[in-house]
Order: sequence, then C-alpha cells, then structure tokens
Amino acid sequence: MEVLPVYTYDHPILRKKLRPVEEITEEVIELALAMHRTMKNADGIGLAANQVGRDMQMLVIDLSHTEGNEDVKPLTVINPAIKAYSEEEVPFEEGCLSLPNLRADVIRPEAIQVKFYDTAMKEHEMEADGLLARVMQHEVNHLHGIYLFDHLSPMRRALLKRKLLGIKRGEVETDYPLWRDEG
Ligand code: ZN
Repeated sequence: MEVLPVYTYDHPILRKKLRPVEEITEEVIELALAMHRTMKNADGIGLAANQVGRDMQMLVIDLSHTEGNEDVKPLTVINPAIKAYSEEEVPFEEGCLSLPNLRADVIRPEAIQVKFYDTAMKEHEMEADGLLARVMQHEVNHLHGIYLFDHLSPMRRALLKRKLLGIKRGEVETDYPLWRDEG
C-alpha cells in the first residue's frame, strides 16, 4: 500500500496558496486515494494536498476512528469555500502531520457552513460543528498556505525553537514517512 511522504516545517509548499482543481483527471483521483492511505497510515484525521507536495485545492478528512464519529464517512474535499462561521468560538488542542510531536491550542469558530466539490465534481453544501468543523477549518487553512505554525504565539515559537529546528532538519521520530530533500 503506497503512502506518500509528508512535507514538514518549513517547506515553502506549506506556505503556498494552492491552485483550484479545474477538472477531475485520473491524476486527481489517484492523488485522493493516496492521500486517504497516507492519512490513515499516519493515524491522522485530515490531510491537505500541499502536505504531500502537491499544488491542488484538495483535502481529505476521516473521523471514523475517533470517538463518537464512527458513522461519519471519510470525505474528499475539492475547492472548498467556507461560507459562514458561527459567532461562538472555542479552543481546542490541535496537531498537524507537518509539525510532528507538537500540539497547540487554537481558537476557532465552533460551527461552519462550507461549500465544496467531490471527485465527481458534484457540488456539496454542508454544515459542520465540533470536530468536523475543527478539522475542516484546519485543512482549508492549509490550502491557503496557513498552518498550525501560524497559530503559535511568538513566545511559543521562541520556546519551541529547538524542536522546530529539529523538525526542519528531519531529526524527528514519526510513525509515517517524511519528505526529504535529496540535495
Ligand atoms: Zn495540518
């Protein structure tokens, strides 16, 4: 089962605003499948295309192995747009496969309304709250070149300096493959 290596802090592709998907090709379908495998292998609940080095507005989510979400079907989300946010905001401790072994509290709206396309280019409009709204916002951030690092305060970044440098140098233990610059 082929899994893709995950790009980590601070590869420039994690900073990129990704290109919308214009048509569903075999390449898009295959990437979606590979992203689901990669996410599952890493025990993740969400993954964006630039985290596997691809410039494409696509993300995958799977909450089915988390408590209380066993019935939530895995999602492949293309060209998403968050249309509305709840006024209520809540804190939650997030992780990110691109920042291994690091967690940070992030305050986000509790509920959202999101529009996206699936791999048949069928349009969906969905309301989400709780963990699904949380993951969707985290992954949509990725597609705009924003990720967990940007939610760390300057103080936290300073405290984590050594750890971040370790991640940057690939000196970090993970249960999933990380992308390495061969040069
Ligand atoms: Zn992430």
